Amino acid sequence: MGFWRAWRERRLLERVAIADELWARLRQRLPILDGLSAAEDTWLREHCVLFLAEKRLTLLQGLELDDGDRLLLAAQALLPLLHLPEAALYPNVREIVVYPDAFVSPQRHRDEGGLEHEWDEERDGEAWDRGQVVLAWPGIQASGGWEAYNLVIHEFAHLLDLLAGGLCNGQPPLHEGMPQAAWTGALQGAYDDLNRQLDADPDAQTVLDPYAAESPEEFFAVACEYFFSAPDLLGEHYPAVYGQLQQLFRQDPRSRLAASLASMQQPTPPGSEARTPI
Ligand SMILES: [Zn+2]
Repeated sequence: MGFWRAWRERRLLERVAIADELWARLRQRLPILDGLSAAEDTWLREHCVLFLAEKRLTLLQGLELDDGDRLLLAAQALLPLLHLPEAALYPNVREIVVYPDAFVSPQRHRDEGGLEHEWDEERDGEAWDRGQVVLAWPGIQASGGWEAYNLVIHEFAHLLDLLAGGLCNGQPPLHEGMPQAAWTGALQGAYDDLNRQLDADPDAQTVLDPYAAESPEEFFAVACEYFFSAPDLLGEHYPAVYGQLQQLFRQDPRSRLAASLASMQQPTPPGSEARTPI
């Protein structure tokens, strides 16, 4: 990071701070942040400020988001970057566009015979290689728990994918010491397994969302979604994929899930009702 950028960021953090109450409320809205260390929590809190200052947020069709809503978006987008200084704040994202509801996106595909097909598709999210992420607000609100769904992480995973040479193909930049063959073997093996199950029975109850079988890039994005929001499922059924993502993100969300479950099972201390945040 350049000296001036570091200086500007430091000045910004001195002037703008997230109020403790606002942050505590965010932590309540996002169970996937349970189990973060104090240092990780501080990193995330500071980088939410930097992220929201740097990226253009375009709200469409009269949508209004308050500070807590903006944090809900930023914190989920940044969770994968906790230990990825190489991808600080997503250098390839300029703008985040949010619709109040699912939106219609024109699609185009040229088939093997060279025939061009065009149709409209309803979507909750899209990532563009021109540096835009498009999200539907209900999908952002529905994300953040341990329910094997996270629209924000899914779409931002496509932008991480694009960091390797500008191609979205399920091949993000790997760290030193991560052999390409191990990455490809793990992800391709799981992708093939999912496709085999769906070829045999299109209604098969698969562990991963069948959307992951669409293409290697969608497999990567869905795998990231599960890594952060259903790490137990991914780890149990596709341990090699979990292991590769653990190396890529330098995180182990399975241990955070265990901490989250343990905290939920703790008996409520007497008198704690009065401390419920408002
Ligand atoms: Zn996708």
